[in-house]
Amino acid sequence: MSAPENPISPLAAPITSLWGVGEERARLLARLDIFTVEDLLLHKPRRYEDRRKFLPIRDLKLKEAATVRGKIVAAGVKRFRKGVRAMFECVFDDGTALLHCRWWQAQPWMEDWFTVGREFLVFGKPDSLRPRNIDHPETELVEPGDDEFIHVNRIAPVHPLTDGLTARVMRALVWRALEKYETQIEDPTWSKLPVAGCRLPVEIGQAPRAEKPSTFNLQPSTLLPARANAVRMIHFPEELTDVEIARQRLALDEFVALQTRIQSRRRKFEASAKALPCSGDNRLMKPFLAALGFKLTAAQTHVLREIRGDLGGAHPMRRLLQGDVGSGKTAVAACSALMALESGFSVALMAPTEILAEQHYRNFTKWFDPLGVKVELQTGSKKTFAVQSSTSNPEGSPKAASRLPPPASLFIGTHALFTAGFDLPKLGLVIIDEQHKFGVSQRETLVRKGHYPHLLVMTATPIPRTLGLTLYGDLDVSVIDEMPGGRGAIKTFVRATDKLPKVFDFIREKIAAGRQAYIVYPRVDVADTDKDIKAVTKEFASVQKALSPFKVGLLHGRIKPAGKEAIMAEFCANQIQALVATSLIEVGVDVPNATVMLIENAEYFGLAQLHQLRGRIGRGAHESFCILISDKQNEEAQSRLEILEQTGDGFKIAEADLKLRGPGEMLGQQQSGAMKLRFGNLVEDLNLIRQARDLAKLHLDFRRTKVS
Ligand code: ADP
Ligand code: MG
Repeated sequence: MSAPENPISPLAAPITSLWGVGEERARLLARLDIFTVEDLLLHKPRRYEDRRKFLPIRDLKLKEAATVRGKIVAAGVKRFRKGVRAMFECVFDDGTALLHCRWWQAQPWMEDWFTVGREFLVFGKPDSLRPRNIDHPETELVEPGDDEFIHVNRIAPVHPLTDGLTARVMRALVWRALEKYETQIEDPTWSKLPVAGCRLPVEIGQAPRAEKPSTFNLQPSTLLPARANAVRMIHFPEELTDVEIARQRLALDEFVALQTRIQSRRRKFEASAKALPCSGDNRLMKPFLAALGFKLTAAQTHVLREIRGDLGGAHPMRRLLQGDVGSGKTAVAACSALMALESGFSVALMAPTEILAEQHYRNFTKWFDPLGVKVELQTGSKKTFAVQSSTSNPEGSPKAASRLPPPASLFIGTHALFTAGFDLPKLGLVIIDEQHKFGVSQRETLVRKGHYPHLLVMTATPIPRTLGLTLYGDLDVSVIDEMPGGRGAIKTFVRATDKLPKVFDFIREKIAAGRQAYIVYPRVDVADTDKDIKAVTKEFASVQKALSPFKVGLLHGRIKPAGKEAIMAEFCANQIQALVATSLIEVGVDVPNATVMLIENAEYFGLAQLHQLRGRIGRGAHESFCILISDKQNEEAQSRLEILEQTGDGFKIAEADLKLRGPGEMLGQQQSGAMKLRFGNLVEDLNLIRQARDLAKLHLDFRRTKVS
């Protein structure tokens, strides 16, 4: 916890070095990921209780959480008939009134613990006032004369606990750790930089024991406590408002450490990796653009200028291209590929699904064939070229040159393209489409391929800025912030299930007028556990009936690749008018004549995912309709869905999604867990993250000038 760069911090001492922690307790603490003194000091309380003044039991209010302090005047087990279930009940008295507390599953230890005469703190929400009653309260024994100052007469922390470890024991341990180690908690070195003379005194949270002056902050407008102060404040705040100040201080340290890692990785990469010259000469680009059939938007052109700069630059490109669904990222990918191809390098384009890889293969073949550029496909089930085994031929070695002199080609594939274990010849540029389907680690393996092609990562899920600066912090960002013209508008409606017959009438009408529709359900099969969630295999027949005589196709992940491809081809050719599908069609699929998207059980999808699905329509000149069906009873879900009714702006939707579901849900636990933030909040902390980025940069610059 002192500067992370100090490996021999005394705080790294094992938790057993604290008085009162033997093997048994250490085992319990390990369950909470507490192994060292530092882990304990950074164990963030889950809530706080103001114990300076307790509420008289008499003043308890219905359904309002409160803490009272009372002595047990009666206690005992109540058995129901046959003794199968037993309830434990005890009655507390604080001199103003009586409070009943009940536990519906009596445990053997309760009778010995809750004995008449003992005094407890009781926290919970009363569910009745006559008599006053709280079920399953949190309780804490008040031991006479013992550490009164730690546990009561103050704002007391309640930490995350585990069976066998009480709030009181945990609090006492943290207190003890602070007593012994507080003076050893150092501010990290970045906060001691002699920048612009900003040596500011501590002005907030004068925790009793902090003798060290704080030596930051770079922005005189925000004063933050020294780290040692902050650690004390997060556990034992003087006022509840201290907690957030302390949290921000500790979060800033986390974010600076994270940003320092990101930026130094990037600097190391730039120092070691030489770029291949891939900016091209327009020889293929000119005829390509002339034949394309539309003019690039200003946003597309702007982004391409950034990419061309990177491809001709000194360091390999590492760029993230964000553009809402339908903004025309594929054309940008094609132009970028042509630049590398013109320079004599091959290009790999990776898609997250076979459907998408094949769609790209069709498009790019159509575009590139006339230019004389070879396009190859490699997916799990289809290959148009032989795999070259990865006997690592150093590039340019005579052997490699004599065996494979293919002209520069475009290789398209799923990630099988890269897991197949071969090196593509003369690879100059890698493009990953729809990045959010690839994990960060997959991106990393690409980067670690040994030689360094340029990398362009494309995503249609707008990434909230907090995540852009952390998770994608080592990439430069380009944004396509403009839609191609000539698109019909998309209207979005949220409807209850009872409107379904009308909705199907509406779909028939649209199909009769020549359009096509997607009908999406959350599941492939009906699961026994979740009978309410509709599944494509079950609904298929009734959709066919509802839309007959029009033809309906079925598409889900368990259909064999050849079958999927056949169905998509029929849908593209309007031989099938409606497609019943899972969210498999979420990414990339492009059929401009499809103008209706019906999604049932919409509450089972994330907002960003629904926005993706909606992006499948509105691609042609006709007006499009997205209808989200969700049960009426579920009001919360409905209001969440209404965000989609109100806006088509992917950024707004992504931020709302992040707020509602948290980064874990949005990114997958693995990705967000990798950041290990105890205090930082990826939903709220944009300003801190920005500040941390600047601080990390200053810090690294400073270290470098010191070294050189
Ligand atoms: P996404 O960004 O979601 O990958 P696509 O690249 O699939 O979007 O583009 C969606 C559709 O818009 C395609 O049919 C594509 O041909 C078309 N398109 C792309 N750029 C333009 C443009 N500048 N003007 C008109 N149509 C365009
Ligand atoms: Mg796309």
